[in-house]
Amino acid sequence: MGRTPRPTPLRSAAAVSPSPPTVVNVGDVPRTDTTTTDEDLVRSALGALLEAHDPATTSTAAFLGARFDAGLAWVSFPPGAGGLGVSPGLQAVVESELRRVKAPNESERNVIGYGMAAPTILAHGTDAQRARYLRPLFTCEEIWCQLFSEPGAGSDVAGLATRAVRDGDEWMVNGQKVWTTLAHTARFGLLVTRTDPDVPKHRGLTYFIVDMHAPGVEVRPLRQITGDAEFNEVFFTDVRIPDGQRLDAVGAGWRVATTTLMNERVAIGGGVPARSSGIINEALRVWRQRPQRTAAQRDRLMTLWVEAEVGRITNMRARAMRRAGTPGPEGSVAKLMGAELNKRIFELCVDLLGMEGTLFPTHYEMRRPDRAELSGGMDVRHSFLRSRANSIEGGTSEIMRNILGERVLGLPGEPRGDKDVPWAQIPRS
Ligand SMILES: Cc1cc2nc3c(=O)[nH]c(=O)nc-3n(C[C@H](O)[C@H](O)[C@H](O)COP(=O)(O)OP(=O)(O)OC[C@H]3O[C@@H](n4cnc5c(N)ncnc54)[C@H](O)[C@@H]3O)c2cc1C
Repeated sequence: MGRTPRPTPLRSAAAVSPSPPTVVNVGDVPRTDTTTTDEDLVRSALGALLEAHDPATTSTAAFLGARFDAGLAWVSFPPGAGGLGVSPGLQAVVESELRRVKAPNESERNVIGYGMAAPTILAHGTDAQRARYLRPLFTCEEIWCQLFSEPGAGSDVAGLATRAVRDGDEWMVNGQKVWTTLAHTARFGLLVTRTDPDVPKHRGLTYFIVDMHAPGVEVRPLRQITGDAEFNEVFFTDVRIPDGQRLDAVGAGWRVATTTLMNERVAIGGGVPARSSGIINEALRVWRQRPQRTAAQRDRLMTLWVEAEVGRITNMRARAMRRAGTPGPEGSVAKLMGAELNKRIFELCVDLLGMEGTLFPTHYEMRRPDRAELSGGMDVRHSFLRSRANSIEGGTSEIMRNILGERVLGLPGEPRGDKDVPWAQIPRS
């Protein structure tokens, strides 16, 4: 997934980017911030959904469609847009009940759709856009990807060069994106383009929804260290996008992108698994299976377990703050901690495997996954390799440290000589 923008002062970021509803993994924190009436509303909608649509016999798309129509996709979204307009805290009630009855859930196939596209469309889209895109996104009939990074613009995504030029009621797009997760399965992409090269870089951007099946869109696989091609490069040659697929105003692309990126960080790092589950459970599992263990390895395991628990509790606190309407810097803390911890956990797993850890579980054939396997999802040796990307995707650990240094600790900002210079005058290779 994409990167995080270079840090800007927290206050101005918050001011330009209304905090979108939290749509990410919900689950384990008891809710305390809602009225009985709202909970009754949710529980009664749940009861009606399950009565009319038996999860065991209803197709996935039909069940998810009915769930959306019942306002149980993202309960904090407005009625008609997949929600009931109630506190996001009540999403936990929905998720835990639907998990209990083993209701269909395809969210892993559409992580960018659920985690980033939905809140971005909600915050910046028109009513017509919400009506067109949210339901098939939720049912996973339409998968989404994120087209931000370019060969010359990753951490500095505001420096991107893909051009969109207005032509009547359409825009003509030319350029290249890279590292585009799941572009090969996506029907729509979140696309940031440069529409005015003569103003400073953050001001000349415009954000579109692009049809990945439109003429002129070419998706080519990029193979990762795991052997898989989970991401792609995407080329745009004279691609026409109707103006109706623009999100927010011309020139407001940075504001929209900030919404997407804030949600991305939470979607990647903000999960709250049960204690001792999630990634740390992989290390516990391998530990139990290996008879040859040293005291030093036990010490590493315990240290990692404690750090995983601290991360889990930090995410619980972040979730509670988001529900109270005060999103803090925890999204960046979680992204940074989670990425570095995942890498160390899988390093321990591979060390515990001894010589077996040097083997690869498959013949290294190229797979085209249909979901983003952020930390693997296969054998731990595969996961070890996949986890190396955790500190790059969604914003590198260095950029997360910059954000925390500047916004939380109040350290002096990086020198940004190009901030007020028209983009066209910034030297680039
Ligand atoms: C598995 C994976 C999936 C991805 N999926 C997507 C996707 O779906 N969509 C998308 O748009 N992008 C995606 N990306 C791209 C990702 O967002 C970028 O790789 C990331 O933002 C870094 O950009 P870059 O690769 O251009 O590296 P660069 O920005 O060139 O950075 C190179 C190195 O310099 C460091 N650096 C750069 N600037 C600074 C600074 N100011 N201070 C300190 N250090 C700095 C970086 O930390 C890094 O170590 C994905 C990446 C990976 C690995």
